[in-house]
Amino acid sequence: MFIFRQLFDPTSSTYTYLLAHQGEAVLIDPVFEQAGRDAALLRELGLALLATLDTHVHADHVTGAWLHRQRLGSRILLAAASGASGADRLLAHGDEVAFGGRRLRVRATPGHTQGCLSYVLDDDGAAFTGDALLIRGCGRTDFQQGDAASLFRSVHEQLFTLPGSCLLYPGHDYRGLTVSSVDEERRFNPRLGGNASVGDFTGYMHHLGLPHPKQIDRAVPANLRCGRVDDAAAAAATPTWAPLALTFGGIWEIAPEALAEVAAEVQLVDVREAAEFNDALGHIAQARLLPLAELGQRQRELDPARPVVTVCRSGARSAQACVLLGRAGFQRVANLAGGMLRWRAQGLPVVGGGE
Ligand code: FE
Repeated sequence: MFIFRQLFDPTSSTYTYLLAHQGEAVLIDPVFEQAGRDAALLRELGLALLATLDTHVHADHVTGAWLHRQRLGSRILLAAASGASGADRLLAHGDEVAFGGRRLRVRATPGHTQGCLSYVLDDDGAAFTGDALLIRGCGRTDFQQGDAASLFRSVHEQLFTLPGSCLLYPGHDYRGLTVSSVDEERRFNPRLGGNASVGDFTGYMHHLGLPHPKQIDRAVPANLRCGRVDDAAAAAATPTWAPLALTFGGIWEIAPEALAEVAAEVQLVDVREAAEFNDALGHIAQARLLPLAELGQRQRELDPARPVVTVCRSGARSAQACVLLGRAGFQRVANLAGGMLRWRAQGLPVVGGGE
């Protein structure tokens, strides 16, 4: 089964693409701050991340390439012409990237930056164009050795020559648009499509009047190192008070065996109703009863300086308790994965309850 996901970073309006086949995945243009989310999705879908591919050295966000390599062992791929250091494989026009029996073909599409690549799926069904071609737009050409005439050539010779039905997935969109096609952009792209000439295009691009990119002074130096940061900064995003896993739903979870190890050091909050606390499933010895309906009123009974683990029957209500506590300012909160059902299934001790 071919798996395709379009993921969004709202801070930078960046799209990250997950492509996978036969259990092997690649990520195109991962975002540093979203590495935990992307890893959670890979884990939940049972995929091994072979490689991250950047379309170019971004000026508006830091790539997640290095962080994924640190955590998941993926390889870092981007253009030789990007000038970046620290990659595992430097790509050039005509190269191919294989994953699970499928391939992405590499096309050089410089102009937004000198190292821009587009990745075209082996069946010509989809192309990932980075900032070379956006939906009814294109990336700016006034930074990072950008050149409008060369972008015009790239789009016309490398992208508009693909089959008209080929879907185009851009690196960004600022209006929430998600996908276009070669035929659509050939006809309707206001800068590059229709009968626009290279002179029309360069004139357009030289008069965009855009402000200085906000993140460029932070992002470009980091991306020239493939998103490498010092270990302290990388570790800062990961809780250290217990072995936790982030879900794609955005909740930090703790496994039953891990909770058994730290139960004495955390505030264990059982958010079921009072009757359930003592029914057939029983409860964990260190747990205090604080039903979900009363959590808003009674959260001041908890110490915000200490970690909190929430528990319920299956892990669903307690996940909502994590969300509410997070909103209330609790920084170290985790959900017992699978709730009392999984705790008991693993043979861990309970107070009360039946067989
Ligand atoms: Fe860009």
